[in-house]
Amino acid sequence: MLGINEPPVTIKNIEVSIIDKGWEEGWVKPAPPEKRTGKTVAIIGSGPAGLSAAAQLNKAGHTVTVFERADRPGGLLMYGIPNMKLDKNEVVLRRVKLLEDEGVTFKCNINVGTDITAEQLRKDFDAIIVATGATKPRDLPIPGRELKGIHFAMDFLTANTKAVLDPSGKYITADGKDVVIIGGGDTGTDCVGTSVRHGCTTVTQLEIMAKPPLTRAANNPWPEWPKTYKMDYGQEEAAAKFGDDPRVYLTTATHFEGDADGNVKAVHVVDVEWKKDDKGNFGPQKIAGTEKVLPAQLVLLAMGFLGPEQPLVEALGVETDPRSNIKAEHEKYTTSLPGVFAAGDCRRGQSLVVWAFNEGRGAARECDRFLMGATSLP
Ligand SMILES: Cc1cc2nc3c(=O)[nH]c(=O)nc-3n(C[C@H](O)[C@H](O)[C@H](O)COP(=O)(O)OP(=O)(O)OC[C@H]3O[C@@H](n4cnc5c(N)ncnc54)[C@H](O)[C@@H]3O)c2cc1C
Repeated sequence: MLGINEPPVTIKNIEVSIIDKGWEEGWVKPAPPEKRTGKTVAIIGSGPAGLSAAAQLNKAGHTVTVFERADRPGGLLMYGIPNMKLDKNEVVLRRVKLLEDEGVTFKCNINVGTDITAEQLRKDFDAIIVATGATKPRDLPIPGRELKGIHFAMDFLTANTKAVLDPSGKYITADGKDVVIIGGGDTGTDCVGTSVRHGCTTVTQLEIMAKPPLTRAANNPWPEWPKTYKMDYGQEEAAAKFGDDPRVYLTTATHFEGDADGNVKAVHVVDVEWKKDDKGNFGPQKIAGTEKVLPAQLVLLAMGFLGPEQPLVEALGVETDPRSNIKAEHEKYTTSLPGVFAAGDCRRGQSLVVWAFNEGRGAARECDRFLMGATSLP
């Protein structure tokens, strides 16, 4: 049942088919609150954390305004996770429309900290929920990083989704290119899937960690997340086209090589092993004699995120934790400023959609308690 000795049941697919049926049958209808409290809440960021907080606070009768700097709401549900994995109009905007019909106001193209000051928001609203995500990408400052054709994964994925939604839009194409993706996580997988769909010539995904075992290791028992080898959709599509899993494990890039016009033409890589160096620090150590050169006209950096962007954090004046995330008490979501709450990736670091939804709901509950003295939100 739970993946202890058999594959787990497909809970996600079951839940998705229930809600899809609900929409098809017209059972999902706007349910605006019967009474308004007269309290106002600003939510900064419209990803899953912001959306779930908005839904709950609106249900409690507060007047909610969501500020989003992108041209469409949804956060990484809109511009991050590609369209083939999550339909933007059918799924994301359908839910946003429901929230609007229930009374939530969305203000897009507003970058809080630039287009409106954090101070102004604090004056205009009774409470604020910060749900700005962990959008600061990890860079790879190795020689040749300045060459043309090397992009952060999110620039590639965001422009791609924009071009799918507004077909006149420009995007970074992988068509006819040898693509090297640095980073073996979900973002890298989305880059693989997108590159294959663009019509890339080859695709290689570099992963610095070792290939996981096929079955659970003894030190990874249930109910921990199984750290086992899996082919996600991106790798499956690449394997179907090119004959093999595009991931290369225990490998790191040492430098990028360019042509006379400043375009990237190759990535120099080397195998690594994880062990202590001469100073006793554990980490990936390069193995001499294993250097290789991979042709690449497009390189995508998908090595994770370093927390929320700091200008807004500084403008708000909230404290951060040692990982530069917004410091907010577990389960309370209260920041160092009264009436300012934080939820989702900006608080817990890069995570998952379900966690962002859960945190948004939790922050709404605590925000409601702050505004009303008590709360009935779950
Ligand atoms: C490429 C990619 C693929 C992923 N795939 C999956 C997956 O398949 N399954 C899964 O569970 N998770 C996945 N994740 C992780 C998941 O998307 C995130 O954990 C989740 O979206 C975090 O939600 P959030 O609401 O905290 O932040 P976000 O979704 O990042 O939303 C934050 C929003 O705040 C806005 N914002 C930031 N600063 C400001 C400002 N100053 N003013 C106004 N607006 C601002 C941003 O524009 C953004 O829209 C993926 C992540 C990436 C990058």
